[in-house]
Parts: sequence; C-alpha cells; structure tokens
Amino acid sequence: MTSATTWVYDFSEGGRDQKDLLGGKGANLAEMTNLGLPVPPGFTITTDACRYYLEHGGTPEELDAQVTEHLTALEKAMGKTLGDPADPLLVSVRSGAAASMPGMMETVLNVGLNDESVQGLAAQAGSERFAWDSYRRLIQMFGKTVLDIDGELFDDAFDAVKRELGTESDLDLDADHLRDVVGRFKAIVRDRTGRDFPQDPREQMDLAINAVFDSWNSDRAVIYRRRERIPSDAGTAVNVCAMVFGNLGMDSGTGVAFTRDPGSGAQGVYGDYLQNAQGEDVVAGIRNTVPLVDLEKIDADAYGELMEIMGRLESHYRDLCDIEFTVERNKLWMLQTRVGKRTAAAAFVIATQLVDEGLIDLDEAVRRVTGDQLAQLMFPRFVAGGNARELTQGMNASPGAAVGKAVFSSEEAVRWQQRGEQVVLVRRETNPDDLSGMIAAEGVLTSRGGKTSHAAVVARGMGKTCVCGAEELQVDTKAKKFTAPDGTVVGEGDVISIDGSTGRVWLGEVPVEPSAVVRYFEGEIDPGAADTDDVVRSVHRILTHADRVRRLDVRTNADTPEDSARARRFGAQGVGLCRTEHMFLGSDRRKLVEQLILADGDDERQRALDALEPLQKQDFLEIFEAMDGLPVTVRLLDPPLHEFLPDLTELSVRVALAEERGEPDEGNLRLLAAVRGMHESNPMLGLRGVRLGLVVPGLFAMQVRAIAEAACERKQAGGDPRPEIMIPLVGAVQELEAIREEAQRVLEEVCRDCGLDVQPLIGTMIEVPRAALTAGEIAGSAEFFSFGTNDLTQMTWGFSRDDVEAAFFHQYLDKGIFGISPFESLDRDGVGRLVQIAAEAGRAARPDLKLGICGEHGGDPDSVHFFHEVGLDYVSCSPFRVPVARLEAGRAAL
Ligand code: PEP
Ligand code: MG
Repeated sequence: MTSATTWVYDFSEGGRDQKDLLGGKGANLAEMTNLGLPVPPGFTITTDACRYYLEHGGTPEELDAQVTEHLTALEKAMGKTLGDPADPLLVSVRSGAAASMPGMMETVLNVGLNDESVQGLAAQAGSERFAWDSYRRLIQMFGKTVLDIDGELFDDAFDAVKRELGTESDLDLDADHLRDVVGRFKAIVRDRTGRDFPQDPREQMDLAINAVFDSWNSDRAVIYRRRERIPSDAGTAVNVCAMVFGNLGMDSGTGVAFTRDPGSGAQGVYGDYLQNAQGEDVVAGIRNTVPLVDLEKIDADAYGELMEIMGRLESHYRDLCDIEFTVERNKLWMLQTRVGKRTAAAAFVIATQLVDEGLIDLDEAVRRVTGDQLAQLMFPRFVAGGNARELTQGMNASPGAAVGKAVFSSEEAVRWQQRGEQVVLVRRETNPDDLSGMIAAEGVLTSRGGKTSHAAVVARGMGKTCVCGAEELQVDTKAKKFTAPDGTVVGEGDVISIDGSTGRVWLGEVPVEPSAVVRYFEGEIDPGAADTDDVVRSVHRILTHADRVRRLDVRTNADTPEDSARARRFGAQGVGLCRTEHMFLGSDRRKLVEQLILADGDDERQRALDALEPLQKQDFLEIFEAMDGLPVTVRLLDPPLHEFLPDLTELSVRVALAEERGEPDEGNLRLLAAVRGMHESNPMLGLRGVRLGLVVPGLFAMQVRAIAEAACERKQAGGDPRPEIMIPLVGAVQELEAIREEAQRVLEEVCRDCGLDVQPLIGTMIEVPRAALTAGEIAGSAEFFSFGTNDLTQMTWGFSRDDVEAAFFHQYLDKGIFGISPFESLDRDGVGRLVQIAAEAGRAARPDLKLGICGEHGGDPDSVHFFHEVGLDYVSCSPFRVPVARLEAGRAAL
C-alpha cells in the first residue's frame, strides 16, 4: 500500500456500489446519507484496513491520522467532543462486511463514556438513570468483546443486583442501582485484566476498532463464512457513528422494519418496535417487542416519516429493504438499511410483485431467486392427523416442517446430530454462539423474541425451519426441559414437531404432505386458477421465463418408468442417464447377473443372458413410453462387481460352517472359488463398465438387442422412441471402438428382423481422466459425450466417492481445504478443467458432438452455471432437481 491510501471515508463520500470497500452497512449508510435521509453522521474504515491489520498484526501507519481527521469533522458536525466531561459525544463502533453476516461480528455502543463524562451525559440528557445505564452497557459490551472477558460474569453480577432488589426487570433499577452495577462491572474488568476500565475515550475507540477487526476471525464468524461460502480473506469494515439514543425514555425507542413481509412477501407494515431501549435489545430478543404498526399510536410523526422513508428506499433499491432505526425523543434516525433477507416463498412472491409494479423485468425476477430457494419450496409440509399433540403456537419465523428430538444446547445439538439423530434445538433465545447448533438441528424453537430476533434472522438466512417467541413455553435449558401451558413437560430426547409456516408446536411426530409447489409440478394445481396461492403462481411465472431464456436442456437421471414420468412432469426433456445395473438389483435378477458373471462355459452364460433379455426389454419399453418423443440415454451395465457377487466373508463363513457340520456344499464351494478368483481390492477401479462388456462375451450385445427390440416394438405401436446408447468408464478409444462395432452389428440384425430403422446415437461417458485428455480421439467413435462427474471427481482427486465424505471431509472443510465437497459442487479448477478440455477437443474433432453431464453435479446450482459456461448441451439430474436445474440454467443464461 502506498502512503496515498485512503483508509477512512465519511458517510457522505460513499455509495451502495462500494460494498467491497466499505462493507454492506457502510455502503448503505453512505447511500442513505446521500439520499438526504436522517442518518447520524459518521465514517467508515475500509475493509482494506482490516485486511492490512489481519495480515500485519497491526493497523496501517496512516490510519491513526485519518481517523483523527474524520473524528474531528464528526465532532464539528455534532458540536460535541468525544468523551467531553461536560457534554460528551458518544459513538458506536460497528462491524460491517461486504456480505451480510448477521450477529457474527462485534459492535460496541456508547464509546466515549467514562467516570467523568457519565456525569455530563446525565446533565445533558436530564437523566441520571439513562447515563448510568449507558455506562454499564459500555463496560459490559467492551468487557466482553474488546477485553475478552466471559460475558456471563457481567450477567451474573447484574442478576445479583436485581436479586438483591427482589426484581426481575431491568426497568426497576434506578440510577443508584445502576451506579452500583457499574462499580461491580469495573471490578470484574480489574480482576480479569489486571487493569482499570480504560478512561481515555480515544483509547476506547481505537481498541473497539481493533476488536471489530479481530472479530472477523472469531469462531462463529469462521463457521458462518464457511457455510455461506463467503471468502475468508474479505475482511470487515468498521463504522464509527454518532450515537443516538432510544433509551432516553418512553418518547424514545428502537426498531426493525421491513418494506414487505420477509416471511410471505405480502405487502404491508412489518417490523418490531421496543420503547425505551437501545440498539441490540430488539435483535437479541431480550424483551418482547410490539408490532411496528403500534408505533403509529405511540409516535404518529415518527411513524409517518418512517413509512415515507420505507417507500423511498424500496423504490430506490427496487427490492425489499430491511431497516434499523431509532427514535430519540420523537426524532427518527436511520441506523441501517440493506436489501433484506427473506424466505424462499417471499423471494418468489416479491420478485413477481416487483415485476407487476414495473420496478424490475422478468429477467431480473429470474436473477433474484435461486435454485436453492426453489428446492426449499419443494419440502413437504405438515398435515393434520397422527398422534401428535399440539402444545402451543409461536411466531412463524422461517418456514418448513421440522421433526426431531428436543435438545437444549448448541453442543448437544451437534453431538446428537453427529450420531445420526434428527434434533430440534430449543432455547429461550439464541445468540451467535448457538450457530453450530442451529446448523446441526432440523429446526429451532425459542420462547422469546420476535420475527427479527437472532434465531429468526439466522434461521431464515439458512433456510432452516424456525418458530420463535413461543411465550407460553417455559424453557429451562439447565434442566433440559420445557413446560407447555397444559403442564406437559418435554425433556431432552422427546420428539417434537414445529411448523415454521404457522408457528405451531407439537409433542410427537406430525405426518407430512407434499408442498403445493410439488403438486403444481405434478400437474395437480393449475397455476392460472383463481384460488391458486401466490407462491405457486410466482414459481410458475419465473420458471416459465427461465425456460424461455435458458440454452441448456435439462434431462433426468431415471431408471424406472415412474421416475421418468415424474421427471417429465417436472419439465425434464429426456433421460440423460438410465443406469441399467439398478434394474438388476432385484433379488430375482441379481441371481441371473451372478450366474452370468460366474458362468462356467458359454452355455451357462447364454442361459443367463437369455433369461435377462426379456426382462431388460420390458424395462425399456415402459421407459420409452414414458419419455415418448424425447431422448433416453441408456447406459450399458456398470456395476462395481462386488455389488452383484455374494459377500466373500459371508460365503466363506457359510462354507466353513457347513464343513464343520460335516456337510460340505459342493455348489457353495465352487461359488466361493469363483468369488475368490474375482475378488477385487478396489472394485470401483476394477472390472466395471466397458471393461465388463469386453470381458463378459454377449453381455452388452444382449443389452443393445433389448434396447433395439423395445424401440422397434414401440414404433410398431405408433410410439416415437428415441434411445441413445452410452458406454461407461471408457478410458481409451479402442475400448469404445470394439463395443461400438458389436453394437452396430446387433442393431443391424434387429432392424433387419423387425423391418424398421432404429438408429440410436452411440456415445460414451467421460468419467475417467484419460478419456477427458484423449477426448479428440474418442470423439472419432462417439456421437455424444456425457460427463460422469461422480467418477471423474473420484478419479481426478483420488477420493473414494463411497468413503471420504464420512471419513474425513468434515476435517477438510474445517481446515478450509475446500469450502464444499467436490462431490457436491463441481471443482471448477481441476475436474472442471478436464470437462472443458474434453468438450473443446471433442467438438474440434466432431463439431456436431452432443455434450451432456449426468453426475450428481447436474442438479447443483453453481455447477449448472459452469456447464452453461463451457457450452454443454444439457444437464441431467434426479427428478426432484429438474426444476432447480431449469431455473439455474435460466439464471446462467442471463
Ligand atoms: C458418474 O460417474 O458421474 C455417473 C453418472 O455414473 P455413476 O454415478 O453411475 O458411476
Ligand atoms: Mg460413473
């Protein structure tokens, strides 16, 4: 960095597009300042400064002078000096990264108070109580976040004073009591740090700034970033802002507002307000709030101004905004705004509302929703019935239907989940330390706090079911139980059900039904009908537009007629992968495959093939019928051998026991010898796919014949079958050529016999790295490629796809080696590079080569964008991911 670097910007100097530099909060404060809205003055220290600090272990040299310059300007604007004993300026020091990380990093309020300025504040505000309350808040927040003192020590000391007074409410404490609390807090600071609470206001501010920088690397922030895939080196900005006070009396207060309902998308006034309270009280859910509309009765002017500003913000941002505000003695101040988080349902509804209001077009509406949100809308919902008993109703904070065993701490949630249990995390309220438990749980239930409480905000962001503010429940986390209004006691491990769409809570398991969106895909709901709900209508409009703009086709991976038909209803344009080995896993057929593989001589083998062929043909007939007029890519057999052969150990035991009983079984003995002979240490790298086709004579020919005969029969019945034949696990063109020759011979025979022309495309999977690297040659013998990114990932990384996720991936994720499993989301740099090389070389050799992908990545949003970028023709994914892939393919094209 050169000496000319600007590390600090006044709120009037930035704008909403500077999130990377000023963080989301700073950029939006600047935007609001420049819109002329009532924002308290302040300045933002850049994310560059944070990165410098984290890298060098200290702030850049010029920062101090730049902060002084801006502080002086702030003091001038406010007509006060930081910490002035007679009339102190106080500031808040808040974090604010480019990507929203609610509650993950630190904030310190009331900076500038000390033993002297607390008197000045009392005199100016005309309230001793207010001043001492502000001072105790400063020591508490500063002690915890800056000085790293266990927050419970302060909570306990505060509770002790209340206990001595025989009260539970903070509001019963007068100025003298709070002065006493301050004394106790200062003693804690001295005791824990060996020094007095810093009295120098500037030192307080500088320490708070550094603490915000440090909080970028707090445990919870690291976990949150990993989960949300936020880059770990982005850093946070720091906003220093003149304090305004919502705790000056009943003519003051603080609140949170949304320009539309973030739960449903409905238009109206949504938010919470808390009189005589400061900053974090609302979000922390510590006291119960009133609905925002009540502010009209409390303070009509402030309410009117807020409504007017909300309207302006929404048309300015062309989106739902959430807002934090404070009323100080009837004067409204805007503390924050941003494009607000919302539920999946609200995202779809709001996007189409904004189209109807002329604020955005349909392209933008498609960009505003995600495949993950659509997937959430496809979750099942609770229905009446079952034996569950309703206990209470809380607030519907984040939709979904969660069933699990009640646990009462974040640690238990994680522990139970790791041993395979589904849990619901029950807390009085959550705080940022509960993050890992919230991730582990199916859903979250709290007894306190509104829709803007920590639990609600974080759960919505994660797409996790949440019911909050279920006030009738008495939650005792220490005793690991809660008590319902009817006296029912629910303990750790008892199964409960919570409905995040209605706020209802049950003891026991409530049955579930498919979502309305799934019923729409199934054709059971008409999106145009008058009584169709807004979510279905919006999904229909947005998906229809995504279909119009996308370039990628979407096919499905389906092995049965039922799955094929369902996927077609969900919008699939064909089958991209029909895994024929799945057709052989039924117990009757499995035996036949076993006979085929272990056959002793041609006759035995032929008998097995003859028995299998009609079964195969029937499978194909039904799938071709379900996908009439659309391509069906049938992959020839690709079983790892061990999936079809008897288990070696089990068989050995059986043989040994029989011998011990003196009744040796000849059949089993022969079988054991054969299984031993074929046993593989690495079956996934063994005799599978094309290798099996080359080694077991007649096997692939039988499958090709079944495909061709089924196609002929469908044609004769007036159908339009479009089979494609796909050879798996090819690594060298010679393998493909040999199978291709055999297949073409069989096809000619069948065509001759039935008198019809059936000419399926013959192509290959690209799932062995060598195939990707020699794709130019392979394309000489293939009419299409389909990337098998499951095996391609396995073989490129050398990770066993069946083992690694359970074995050690969580440690890789913890260490940040990758942010997400490469089996879940395509590794663009490595596996993706191979896909790109193969696509380019294949197309160079054969310009009309069809390119698709049928690994699990075909339904992963990020991967779909990659496949669009490298120019594939289609993605193929499981039936339930088809709508997700359609949407993401549309988004990728915009
Ligand atoms: C693949 O490897 O990506 C693939 C689709 O084949 P399978 O998962 O059946 O090995
Ligand atoms: Mg494979």
